[in-house]
Amino acid sequence: MKECIVGVDIGGMSIKCIIIDKQGNSLIEGRIETGVEDGVEQVCENIVSLVRKLLWELKEYLPLGVGIGCPGLIDSKEGVVVYAANLKFKNVRLADYIEHALVLPVKITNDANAAALGEAVFGAGKQYEDSVTVTLGTGVGGGIVVGGKLFEGYRSAGAELGHMVIVKDGNQCSCGTKGCFEAYSSATALKKATREAMAAHPESRMWERYTLDTVSGKTAFDYEAVDQTAKEVVDSYISHLAVGLANIANIFRPQAILIGGGISGEGEHLLAPLRKEFSKLLFGGDSYAPVKLEKASLGNRAGALGAAALILD
Ligand SMILES: [Zn+2]
Repeated sequence: MKECIVGVDIGGMSIKCIIIDKQGNSLIEGRIETGVEDGVEQVCENIVSLVRKLLWELKEYLPLGVGIGCPGLIDSKEGVVVYAANLKFKNVRLADYIEHALVLPVKITNDANAAALGEAVFGAGKQYEDSVTVTLGTGVGGGIVVGGKLFEGYRSAGAELGHMVIVKDGNQCSCGTKGCFEAYSSATALKKATREAMAAHPESRMWERYTLDTVSGKTAFDYEAVDQTAKEVVDSYISHLAVGLANIANIFRPQAILIGGGISGEGEHLLAPLRKEFSKLLFGGDSYAPVKLEKASLGNRAGALGAAALILD
């Protein structure tokens, strides 16, 4: 019988499921509303029914297990969601629940870690043993893969790359600390910096197409070639991003850092100047052990694919 592996990515709005064969080819995909407002039990039931429905379509395959990527603080060893604010989960024994319902082995990890593993196993990091994925979205998420395996730290509470302090007493971060990487390099931080620059510079050309309400992570990038204010916002964004990435590189020296999330949509527009700043900060320079900065390639499928990769192990 042919074998398959189930990958589930739980988001605040929807639950995504991708079932792959052992080579990583997608066999079937589906999604369902998370249903946070219906309570913990119902969210778990929604996961079960989505997986059941898709496996039903693949009757000729033998499922080997279910990997789950979940937001929040996850104890992956125990299979427990310790805390996930946007799911209203607290100490939920998610792996046990799904294991009993589906009678399949279940492994869970944090969603950012799952995405990093997905990129490392099936995406832009495929050819590297060691890679770090950094996601520039609402926050800055990340995951570290060393020797093909996730590095999660004590009780899976590590790899919080977004909360490395890069400026002492710097910008306020959502976590309560000041100066975190995330407080400078998330899309949220970039939008805030753009708004502040526009407010201070009524002459900026960014006002031609944007207001303080419609500013996005693209605004400053759109105008950096023709507007000094926009250029300053982008330069400052890139220089702080380079500091955070160089810190990661100088500790782990991965073969590649893969950049995902909304801001990575800027592609070479972002990456070319970023590589220049980054290489200045890379210990020993970049000739002996170069660290590639590349765009992550799996987009919003990285989490589910990485969750499936937990079972490949
Ligand atoms: Zn923080």
